[in-house]
Amino acid sequence: MKIRKRIQIRGVVQGVGFRPYIRNLAHRFDLSGWVLNHSGGVTIEAEAESDVLEQFLTSIPKEKPVHSFISRMEIADIDLAGDSGFEIRVSETGEKPTALILPDLATCPECLAELTDPENRRFRYPFLNCTQCGPRYSIIQKLPYDRPNTTMKQFRMCAACKAEYENPDDRRFHAQPTACPDCGPQLDFKFTDGKVVGRGDKALLLAEDLIKHGSILAMKGLGGFQLLCDARSDSSVKTLRKRKNREEKPLAVMVPDIETALQYADLSQPEIELLTSSEAPVVLVRQKKNSGLSPLLNPGNPYIGLILPYTPLHHLLMADLQIPLVCTSGNRSDDPICTNEEEAALKLGAVADGFLNHNREIQRYIDDSVARIIHGELFMIRRARGYAPLPEGQNMRSGKSLLAVGAHLKNTISVSDGSLVCTSQHIGDMSTITANLAFESAILDLSDIYRIKPEQVLADLHPDYYSTRHAEQTRLPVIHIQHHEAHIAGSRAENNVSGEALGIAWDGTGLGSDGTVWGGEFFHSDDSGISHIGQFVQFPLAGGDTAVRDVRRSALGILVTALPADQAEKWLVKLNVFTSEEMKNLHLMIEKKLNTVMTSSAGRLFDGVSALLHLRKKSAYEGQAAMELEFISDPDEKGAYSFSLVDGSPFMLDWRPMISEILTDIDQNVPVSEIGGKFHRTMVNIMISVAKEKGYQQIVVGGGCFQNKILLENLISAGEANGIKVFWPHHIPTNDGGISFGQIAWVVGREGK
Ligand code: ZN
Ligand code: ZN
Ligand code: FE
Repeated sequence: MKIRKRIQIRGVVQGVGFRPYIRNLAHRFDLSGWVLNHSGGVTIEAEAESDVLEQFLTSIPKEKPVHSFISRMEIADIDLAGDSGFEIRVSETGEKPTALILPDLATCPECLAELTDPENRRFRYPFLNCTQCGPRYSIIQKLPYDRPNTTMKQFRMCAACKAEYENPDDRRFHAQPTACPDCGPQLDFKFTDGKVVGRGDKALLLAEDLIKHGSILAMKGLGGFQLLCDARSDSSVKTLRKRKNREEKPLAVMVPDIETALQYADLSQPEIELLTSSEAPVVLVRQKKNSGLSPLLNPGNPYIGLILPYTPLHHLLMADLQIPLVCTSGNRSDDPICTNEEEAALKLGAVADGFLNHNREIQRYIDDSVARIIHGELFMIRRARGYAPLPEGQNMRSGKSLLAVGAHLKNTISVSDGSLVCTSQHIGDMSTITANLAFESAILDLSDIYRIKPEQVLADLHPDYYSTRHAEQTRLPVIHIQHHEAHIAGSRAENNVSGEALGIAWDGTGLGSDGTVWGGEFFHSDDSGISHIGQFVQFPLAGGDTAVRDVRRSALGILVTALPADQAEKWLVKLNVFTSEEMKNLHLMIEKKLNTVMTSSAGRLFDGVSALLHLRKKSAYEGQAAMELEFISDPDEKGAYSFSLVDGSPFMLDWRPMISEILTDIDQNVPVSEIGGKFHRTMVNIMISVAKEKGYQQIVVGGGCFQNKILLENLISAGEANGIKVFWPHHIPTNDGGISFGQIAWVVGREGK
């Protein structure tokens, strides 16, 4: 018996070759009907004998295009129409967009083959793409994803491109950004005087020459400008650092291919897979000794961020040059990256020696994502290109439209339509006006594109964060969510944890619900919410946030808390980290509680121990001292220090015995690698023993401290050895880039799923 069904599919089903896929499938089963794109996703009507139609339906999710993602499939019986054949119909617009936007995808193997084939009409054309690859999120202006709704609308397709675009059997059937040398975007090259001196391939060759001569190129890439130079040259890297005002933060390196990557780093199979994935993030990997890369790229850091070419333009550049290139965001220090030529000329004129531009507009800036492999699995550090704005988390139903504005550092924002949570690309530290503006436009952008009108705004408890102040100006009801609760809620939600779990949030700082500065916190969490149960013994930080960079202040606070005054004094003299003048002032500040905060921050504890071991007096960026402590520590050290758990509400985790023992080890000239190893082991023991003492079989962690590979991996194995399941963030950064997602998760967790 013949029947007809209407199938509504939601998810990532546009711009991935979904309709031709359905059409081909329909032809295979000899069905009649049609398929149609609209802002809510894809609608199919199909008519056939009932058993044939059943087979067709079960085949849809099984053989779907690689980059597609089906979040929901609704099927309804309808009346027969008796049509013949199966067609692709023109897109409909108007309805509220519920289709998901795909992230930008790295060049696919078929496009790469065309790029390097002298017989192909797109030979050496830097903007070729197809339904399996190319720009998406960086060019979309609104849904549905059709060419007139992208920044490609200004380019009229030539006859040849149009024929491919309209041919359902072509790889470029409805590939919205498709282009060729005759009809698409073009390159041009300028020196800093702003005069175009070359176009097309000549522009590319001029840019390559510039790099060969050791100079710095600003290149308009996919999601913004990038700064590129020879990664083997100390003088190029030094110049770049100086001009960019970026002292010591590690710089990422683009290498021509995976074979070259293997020359510079020891790569595991999951690392190779991540590097070559269509998300193509920067991957932090262990660098080989004497690799030939400039040591100024990552001073004091055994890891290097590698990335492979991910657009045709990068492929051409790397194939021609065959050298590793520094590949860093085109911005000055903490600003968001530049996306248009005028802005770049203004802001990067003093940084770059030449500009490789193109005339395809960038709709929104998107940095390269940064990730690493932990325990064989993806671990996100900066979530941007390739991942944003895909939804993360499962069962995140709140039934309400929400906007979460995140925290302050490494900020992101998230929106929810009540069932899916979409987190923006990395926005950055909210300490500059340009970053604040970028934050505001990200909010407008993401809510506009998904047409979400938030009913509630979720913000941090900290009243002075720019994000919190912005939330209050929206005139919508604001829920203030404690920072570390958001870390734990996010980690729980991403891992779909159910039942009771010990939440451990360790990071730099976040305002606690008692008004002090938290950062070494323990929570009870279950299916109905999160509550604070314990923390590290607090210590004073003279100068508050100044201690983020001046890590000696953390050491001072730790010493005066752990030791009697005369002993602390003796150690401070011995460690010789302060001048007597500085010491007098700091003591006075602590005694009189002048500009001094009390904190339970685990991050500052890492900093302080790092300073005690004389690794670093000042950090050039947050977390540097703690990172150096990680790098010198022996990960396999089995010894550990003492600590105690003092019951109370909240309970206090007393780390002072550990400090006394560390000082004894320093006195006895125990190697720093061993002291550092024992310190990390102690921190792991603390987590396991709290879980055991309080009767938890699950631990959920969150917060910037867990970016520490030794800490997290040793915790995972200690969990396995003790029968405790450990959950940690994967796709959502464990640092404050995950706070906005965690804020939504907090509301979902409290108000039921
Ligand atoms: Zn392709
Ligand atoms: Zn063309
Ligand atoms: Fe945090």
